[in-house]
Amino acid sequence: MTKSVVPVNYDVLIVGGGMVGASLACALSQAGGANLHIAVVEGTPFDCEQQPSFDARSVALSDSSRIIFQTLGLWTEIEARGVMPIERIHISDRGHIGSTHMDCREQGVAAWGYVVETRVLGEVLTAGMNHSDNIDLICPARVEAAESGRGPDWATVKISRHGEVESLVAKLVVAADGAESRLRELAGIKTFSMNYGQTALIANLVCDRPHQHIAYERFTDSGPMALLPVCDPGGGEHAYALVWTLRPHQADAMASLDELAFLEHLQGHFGRRAGGFVKVGARHVYPLKFLLARELVRPRLAIIGNAAHSLHPVSGQGFNLGLRDVAVLAQIIVDAQRKGRDIGKLDILEDYAHWRRRDQWQTAGSTDALVRVFSNAFPPLALARNLGLLALDTLPPLKKRLARYAMGYIGKQPRLSRGLPL
Ligand SMILES: Cc1cc2nc3c(=O)[nH]c(=O)nc-3n(C[C@H](O)[C@H](O)[C@H](O)COP(=O)(O)OP(=O)(O)OC[C@H]3O[C@@H](n4cnc5c(N)ncnc54)[C@H](O)[C@@H]3O)c2cc1C
Repeated sequence: MTKSVVPVNYDVLIVGGGMVGASLACALSQAGGANLHIAVVEGTPFDCEQQPSFDARSVALSDSSRIIFQTLGLWTEIEARGVMPIERIHISDRGHIGSTHMDCREQGVAAWGYVVETRVLGEVLTAGMNHSDNIDLICPARVEAAESGRGPDWATVKISRHGEVESLVAKLVVAADGAESRLRELAGIKTFSMNYGQTALIANLVCDRPHQHIAYERFTDSGPMALLPVCDPGGGEHAYALVWTLRPHQADAMASLDELAFLEHLQGHFGRRAGGFVKVGARHVYPLKFLLARELVRPRLAIIGNAAHSLHPVSGQGFNLGLRDVAVLAQIIVDAQRKGRDIGKLDILEDYAHWRRRDQWQTAGSTDALVRVFSNAFPPLALARNLGLLALDTLPPLKKRLARYAMGYIGKQPRLSRGLPL
């Protein structure tokens, strides 16, 4: 049955309450003096098995993401539920001599990044939204259609909730609805996209020796594999989150092996640098694709997070990049609102697009290049990349640049990334 409900007017309507959309809602809700009335429309409840954003994965947060969460007052809560700092990173190329080792102490920082379960982020962000008086969390509900709205000053979005259709009206609609963004499609915004022909297999692993806060990145012919140090369920430090990139048929075969056979294959592929693998948890697969939206804004619409850019997980940058979108868009919205300006106007939103474009294109481009160069067995390329890895060890300025990039300090920093409140 469908029914039309009297529309409610919001300042900001965020479609998608995943990691990026929920972070934006939490940021906007606490901006003093802006008095924003916010709605978040999310298709799948956070505690549901099928929730696509808060699932079985662990993600590596950059130092700049930690500062953003700290400035929003969420980091203490995230840390209390389990965060593992990455102090050293070991990068190697399977079957070749090139390798490099990066220690955070060489750069004078406490950690390269922090590994956290997406479920932990889900708990903290959902609690943050539920405790805010100025956020309406509308879930489960899905956006089906969008219209230009009641006159030029508003956008209207149609949602389906409990089998009924409702209209929501807002000055600004933010698409945070992931790589398959319905809002982006409804706006007719085209993308640059391509399938990698690779699938990421993820699982939690237990090793026979402590991880010592080391993350491993190993490049292989089928694609890169990463081991990120995580907290053991028992409180120890022997566990890793595995992200293993494989051809789709290989990933399916690995996912269906029994535990012992899987551990044997993994050990054979990765070697014994991290020790012996003794246990593996549930395995999940994610087909990988590259996507970059050709436009980021339209009148009364802004696109953030995976709806704007979907990257290969090799560099662990997707969510970090999305959180930097959040920090910039939140600042632009709040500043315009405090000046009494219309936050849905294109000239204001273009400031967001202009500010974010370079970081998005650079991060997406360098991640894509990394996948291509390191998944290629062509001998001259293999030699060049091994020389590159060896050179990293002998060229401190190059290492420093890479370190700043990995920690998320790219281009002009918004207030939240500098530890300043909105
Ligand atoms: C294997 C793997 C490992 C990764 N590791 C890292 C890492 O270490 N570090 C890192 O920074 N990034 C990592 N990423 C990337 C990171 O997961 C994504 O960048 C992040 O999930 C993007 O968040 P998002 O909120 O933009 O999109 P999503 O996570 O896709 O969330 C979109 C949300 O919108 C909702 N939604 C969709 N359509 C609708 C609709 N029509 N109506 C209402 N709601 C809707 C969905 O239910 C979902 O909750 C990894 C990704 C993968 C696949």
